[in-house]
Amino acid sequence: MIRKGMKLYSILFGVCPKCHQESMYQNKNPYAITEVIKMNKTCSHCKTKYQIEPSFFYGSMYVSYAVGIAFAVAAFIISYNILGSSLITAFVAIMATLIGLFPVIMRLSRNIWINIFMSYDKELAEKSTKAKS
Ligand SMILES: [Zn+2]
Repeated sequence: MIRKGMKLYSILFGVCPKCHQESMYQNKNPYAITEVIKMNKTCSHCKTKYQIEPSFFYGSMYVSYAVGIAFAVAAFIISYNILGSSLITAFVAIMATLIGLFPVIMRLSRNIWINIFMSYDKELAEKSTKAKS
């Protein structure tokens, strides 16, 4: 099961990488296209600054390349190997996947990127929840 405290939790749900208490994004819905990459500056629970340094998230572009390829390969295997479509249909399926999931891929990449540099901090998370309540 995926739960708070696991890196995967922060990556999949886009929550603060340190305390896992709240979303890093101003709008949780990645399909609010104008707000795809609008992030809060800091976590209101643990005060973690997401942008470690200026243009920190440029690095997530390398990750998005890898994530994009992973999605493309998955789309290819599903359409070509499992559904038995032609190569052209498989290609269309790849394009549709990449375009359709573009906001998700962008956010996943940012989440993976920030989780490379930060990890869940149990003490910090507990302290920040206590301070709030
Ligand atoms: Zn936090």
